[in-house]
Amino acid sequence: MKSRQIHQLLELAHRYSAEYVDALDERSVFPDEKVLEKLAIFDESMPARGSDPVDVLGLLHRYGSPATVAQTGGRYFGFVNGGIHPPSLAAKWLSDTWDQNSALYVMSPISSKLEEICEKWLVDLFHLPEGTAAGFVSGTSMSLLCGIAAGRNELLRRLDWDAAARGLFGAPEINVVIGAQAHSAVRKALSLLGLGEERVRVIPCDDQGRMLVDKMSDLDPRTLLILVAGNVNTGSFDRFQKICQKARSANCWVHIDGAFGLWAAASPDTYPLYEGAELADSWSVDAHKTLNAPYDCGVILCKDRTALVSALQATGSYIQWSGNRDGMLYTPEMSRRARSIELWMLLKTMGKSGVAALISQLCSRARLFEERLKEEGFNIVNEVVFNQVLVACDNAPETEATLERIQKSGECWCGGALWLGEPVIRISVCSWATTEEDVERSVRTFVHARANVRSADAR
Ligand SMILES: *Cc1c(COP(=O)(O)O)cnc(C)c1O
Repeated sequence: MKSRQIHQLLELAHRYSAEYVDALDERSVFPDEKVLEKLAIFDESMPARGSDPVDVLGLLHRYGSPATVAQTGGRYFGFVNGGIHPPSLAAKWLSDTWDQNSALYVMSPISSKLEEICEKWLVDLFHLPEGTAAGFVSGTSMSLLCGIAAGRNELLRRLDWDAAARGLFGAPEINVVIGAQAHSAVRKALSLLGLGEERVRVIPCDDQGRMLVDKMSDLDPRTLLILVAGNVNTGSFDRFQKICQKARSANCWVHIDGAFGLWAAASPDTYPLYEGAELADSWSVDAHKTLNAPYDCGVILCKDRTALVSALQATGSYIQWSGNRDGMLYTPEMSRRARSIELWMLLKTMGKSGVAALISQLCSRARLFEERLKEEGFNIVNEVVFNQVLVACDNAPETEATLERIQKSGECWCGGALWLGEPVIRISVCSWATTEEDVERSVRTFVHARANVRSADAR
């Protein structure tokens, strides 16, 4: 391919992206049926011959762009997905052109340098001890795996057992303690790491999903304790100050799942939720959720650098280590895209004040939802402490039917969940792009959906 042809393709991609951005506010948040039916155009057997890339990119834009979920717009509130910060998107475009492999310094000095810088800045934003290590992974699921592996191996090492060499069969037992509302990714990591999903000790939680501190007896140096900053439904935070102090005097390993909530550290408004979390040993956080970095961008932070690196060790005569940062020391993967580049761009363009403002904005939009929906007679099920709002109608069937209509409306999109056994509509305010007008428009959608459910029931 000649560089002229490469330019043409990249310019086309640029044009299609611009069209996508311009259409965002008008289009249906979730693609409608007609658009989804057209996805059948992609059904074909593996083509025997290739096609003109200009045509294929056109096909992708024509049928693919409308079949996306408009999560980068202002009215997507599903899961905790996060929007996209435009400057970091631009940096990702450029770095995608570079196509760097961030495994080793010799594969990408720029990636190595920006990992080093991001590590330092994140340690600062989260008020962590100097020397805390960061690894750049795909998301919190992977980050949990790293943090729990580091904790498991370090607890065993203190009991004179080298888990990396000897495995877990015959090893001294360690106790894993989690809250009843731990995220499924925590349970998945435990099962993958041979710690068993069912042999863990589960501490009951209060009605916001916070671990009940007084039910948390006998922590000891064989305990791996996993806490949550930001319950995936309610957005609640475990009481770190109390628990982490207790854990510290018992000498156990504390890991915090802070996929979206760890960012509470970065705004003075929400810092009190985070306070005490600095005392843990390792932390998981996503930049692709609250911070609005492009997918996929998760981080493992670990106070004990040696524990993290030795849990993720790899060797091979062809691996060329350097005196600089070699990214793969801190991650399970070897080859890896250079996600630190767009993270650096985001942090550099926002600064501490910009990050704090983003967190505060998400929280204040969530509170606006709470206030407006209450005025409209909806029940708010959780204490809105961060960016999550759980909403219920007068009874469970009405809540479920209202949610279904909201999802079909195209006006906004929310997911659902069961909270304390009852269906709820989950609102996660997770994009910089959500304005107060977006909240108002979405509240109107809620009201309309419920009215339609009621009139359908009356018939
Ligand atoms: C999203 C989330 C996870 C999983 O993170 P991924 O980045 O999707 O792998 C884990 N824990 C909590 C609390 C989450 O919100």
